[in-house]
Amino acid sequence: MPKITLTRLDAASPDFAARLDRLLAWNESDDLSVHQRVLEIIAEVRARGDRALIDYTTRFDRRALSDASELELDKAQLQAAFDTVSEAQAKALQTAASRIRAYAEHQKMASWRYTEADGTVLGQKITPLDRVGLYVPGGKAAYPSSVLMNAIPAKVAGVPELIMVVPAPQGELNRLVLAAAHIAGVDRVFTIGGAQAVAALAYGTETVPPVAKIVGPGNIYVATAKKLVFGQVGIDMIAGPSEILVICDGKTDPDWIAMDLFSQAEHDENAQAILISDDGAFLDAVEQSIDKLLPEMERAEIIAASLNGRGALIKVESLLQAAGVANRIAPEHLELSVDDPEALSEHIRHAGAIFLGRHTAEALGDYCAGPNHVLPTSGTARFSSSLGVYDFQKRTSLINCSPQGSSELGKTASILARGESLTAHARSAEYRIKAG
Ligand code: NAD
Repeated sequence: MPKITLTRLDAASPDFAARLDRLLAWNESDDLSVHQRVLEIIAEVRARGDRALIDYTTRFDRRALSDASELELDKAQLQAAFDTVSEAQAKALQTAASRIRAYAEHQKMASWRYTEADGTVLGQKITPLDRVGLYVPGGKAAYPSSVLMNAIPAKVAGVPELIMVVPAPQGELNRLVLAAAHIAGVDRVFTIGGAQAVAALAYGTETVPPVAKIVGPGNIYVATAKKLVFGQVGIDMIAGPSEILVICDGKTDPDWIAMDLFSQAEHDENAQAILISDDGAFLDAVEQSIDKLLPEMERAEIIAASLNGRGALIKVESLLQAAGVANRIAPEHLELSVDDPEALSEHIRHAGAIFLGRHTAEALGDYCAGPNHVLPTSGTARFSSSLGVYDFQKRTSLINCSPQGSSELGKTASILARGESLTAHARSAEYRIKAG
């Protein structure tokens, strides 16, 4: 069994800030050969369309294909997948879906308008994106919960056509993923993956229609392709490794906290799990729980690599100080396992999602609590937010000038336009200034 030696930091020590910075540093490897490869794949898909899709799918997913029509699943296949999952799984997917939908409904932006004193009407019109592409990773990392979390907000936003792509290595597909697509109301599914699927969604081929935005996680080829097609289409985000930060006052069962740390560490070796407490003896107790529970974990090797590489136990003087450290970290997931989590949350400004109280395990949020599990990582919670309905809606400004409003605004616009030497702007405004 692998041994875990967690990094220990003390907020009172003079080198704390520097050590914390080193712990948080995360550089996505910028592999130039991958970049070059992905550029080539995108160019091929743009130039040769379906032919290129068939060639890459044959090569990377080892499938024998003769026609691009074989790349699309029909809705009956989604229904059939749903019909074959166990009753308990179907019910769990439906429970999760309805909670995610109910939460998303609260996020819907509505159009608004107001009338100025001069009769000018100003407003904002909300429209959904026309068509959205959802990338779903294939192979071992097949997560039906990701399908629900990405697809449902798009549907709640009113996106009329949601296209899912998922690679089928050697023709194999995950039934739960297809069942989730069925429940979420995905409109079309293509069994393609990697950079070629992203390129097809961005530019369209004879078979795959072009979308306005691509969402969903994937490997380095997928992430690099999303970065490269950004501008042609919108993208959600480029997610880094999963993170959890737990602040605990020492009064929660240390086994619970150890398992909460494991729950993110088991995602991958680069995931980051950190515990902060004002109780030094509690940090020791959690360390003992970690040693005790690790052998029970199916993914013990990954958990050990993650905790040894990027995990930490941090001792602070007070919970207020812990909140300050949390704001510096800006974690993807933050658990406040304390007596008064509401009061402590008042001091938190940067976190993707906050899990309040000892009973709110982060894992509940991953699957079914309701809020989206697609969250900002690597400190990007300082400036960005979870995926939501608003990511699938656009805002269009509305301006309807009354004759009086146009006349008054024309004077202001004219002065500003002439200051910029934009004569046509100025005259266009001046035509509408009423004489006298
Ligand atoms: P994937 O669907 O992301 O990638 C498979 C595709 O990669 C293949 O179809 C192929 O087209 C392409 N590919 C593979 N080798 C290639 C090569 N040498 N050259 C060009 N293209 C190549 O599935 P995966 O590889 O199993 O990876 C899944 C990823 O998704 C993991 O990195 C996992 O961490 C991530 N993931 C993240 C989340 C999240 O929420 N952050 C959720 C699920 C999965």
